[in-house]
Amino acid sequence: NDYKGRVRPDWCPGCGNFAQLSAIQGALVELGIEPKDAVVVSGIGCSSNLPEYANWYGFHGIHGRLLPVASAIKWANPKLTVIAYGGDGDGFFEGTQHFYHTAKRNVDITYIVSDNQIFGLTTGQASPTSQIGMVTKSTPDGNVEKPVNPLTFALAAGATFVARAFSGDALHLKEVIKKGIQHKGFAFIDVMSPCVTYNKINTYDFFRKRVYKPQHDTSNFEEAYRLALEWGDRIPIGIIYENTDKRYEELDPVLSEKPPIEREVRPIPQDVLEEFL
Ligand code: SF4
Repeated sequence: NDYKGRVRPDWCPGCGNFAQLSAIQGALVELGIEPKDAVVVSGIGCSSNLPEYANWYGFHGIHGRLLPVASAIKWANPKLTVIAYGGDGDGFFEGTQHFYHTAKRNVDITYIVSDNQIFGLTTGQASPTSQIGMVTKSTPDGNVEKPVNPLTFALAAGATFVARAFSGDALHLKEVIKKGIQHKGFAFIDVMSPCVTYNKINTYDFFRKRVYKPQHDTSNFEEAYRLALEWGDRIPIGIIYENTDKRYEELDPVLSEKPPIEREVRPIPQDVLEEFL
């Protein structure tokens, strides 16, 4: 179970992505999932370099398009543990429609977003989760747009596992990721992950003063929605909502009968091929 990679991360010292890399590796090890059975799919952004930094199968995709790739991998070989991993810009801007539909389909993958509330790789522009008033390179007079709320979005889409975690609480983060991986269905985890270089507002101190772990019935949708709306002096972290709805893979008549990995691959007969050509 050695997930230690040979390529060293080039993230800025102190970046919240380090804690997530370590938490994902730790979660996989503690769940007894071997590197040959784990795939991490990413989009584009600082965080999306993560698949290169560990000894698992990785697919570094294009901006915002990680979820269709992750879904296809899971459908082709359901024995794999598939983790999709990207940033807030990647997931809630370019990838919004994929986020909605993958949650609605309840594909059995874990989607972790490194939410630093800024575009880091492109050196500090406002992202979909940037706070109102934040001064960035693209908003020199302060951001005037209301930030999206990834948790209410996921709940509205029908996600069957919705959670928030914090890079400054690595052990809790690892436990949430473990639960997400164990969940049978689409597990969404929004990780508050300080960008120490370009976001001077949502820092480790900002979150440490605010995060708390609510004790509630995680199957209660109304209560989950109320918690998902909470953002201010108190910010809830942990599993916000979970249900046991059936996965797409169980409902789809073709996938539920036999996944592609178990099907016989038959060559196309020469006469059929020639006629086609
Ligand atoms: Fe992390 Fe921000 Fe540096 Fe990117 S720019 S590596 S998000 S600290």
